Amino acid sequence: MGRPEEIASNLAEVEERLRAACDAADRSRDELTLVAVTKTFPASDIALLADLGVRDIGENRDQEAAPKVRDLDDPRITWHFVGQLQSNKCRSVARYASLVHSVDRERLVGALGKAAVQAERTIGCLVEVRLGEGAERGGVARAEVRALADHIADTNGLRLQGVMGVAPLGGDAARAFAALRDVADRVRSSHPEATVISAGMSGDLEEAVMWGATHVRIGTALLGFRPPRG
Ligand SMILES: *Cc1c(COP(=O)(O)O)cnc(C)c1O
Repeated sequence: MGRPEEIASNLAEVEERLRAACDAADRSRDELTLVAVTKTFPASDIALLADLGVRDIGENRDQEAAPKVRDLDDPRITWHFVGQLQSNKCRSVARYASLVHSVDRERLVGALGKAAVQAERTIGCLVEVRLGEGAERGGVARAEVRALADHIADTNGLRLQGVMGVAPLGGDAARAFAALRDVADRVRSSHPEATVISAGMSGDLEEAVMWGATHVRIGTALLGFRPPRG
C-alpha cells in the first residue's frame, strides 16, 4: 500500500471512531474539528491530508512548522500550533498560526499579541489547562486559568477561543476531560465567545468527545508511529 492509500485508510478509521463517539455522546460530527497533528511527518503527508479534506493541521515546533508552511503555501490549510511555545518564536508563529492551543503563561500573551499586531493578524488562543498531577504535561493550574483567560481577552491581536488539555499519561482520561469541561464552562461564563474545547488524541478521542471536545488532535492514528526525533 502506498502512502496515499495508507493515509486514506487511516482517515476512514478515525472518521469511523469519531462517528461512533458522536453517536455514543448524542452529538453531531459537525460539532467536531479534526486537527491532524503532523509533527515529524513530511510536508507531502500534509498535502495528502489536505487533498482528502483534512485542512486543519497541527504542529508543535516552530522550527519544523515554519518551513512546512512555506513549502506547502496552501491557502486551504488552517494551521494550529499545539506545542510548548517559546516567547522568541512568537513572531514566526504569528505569521501562520490561526489557533495556538498551548497558551500557558502570562509572558507569552504579551509576546504573541505584539507579534500578531505586527503581522496584522488576529490569533486565536486557547488556555492550556494542566490536567495531571505532575508538571510534565504542561499547562496552567486550574486556579490560574481565569486570570490568563482575562489577560488574553484584553490583549490586542489575540482572541480568546477556549481551553485545551492533555490527559495525563496512564491516567483516567474521562476524569481529566470532565475536569477540563468544568473549567471550560467557567471560562465561558465570563467569556461567551470562548467555546472551543481542544481535547482528545489518538488514544482517548472517545472520552474527549463524550466530555464535550470541539477539537480533537490526532497524530498517530492518521499518520502512524512517529519516527524518533533526529
Ligand atoms: C503529538 C500531539 C498530539 C497527537 O498525539 P497522538 O497520540 O499521536 O494522536 C496531540 N496533541 C499534542 C499537544 C501533541 O503534541
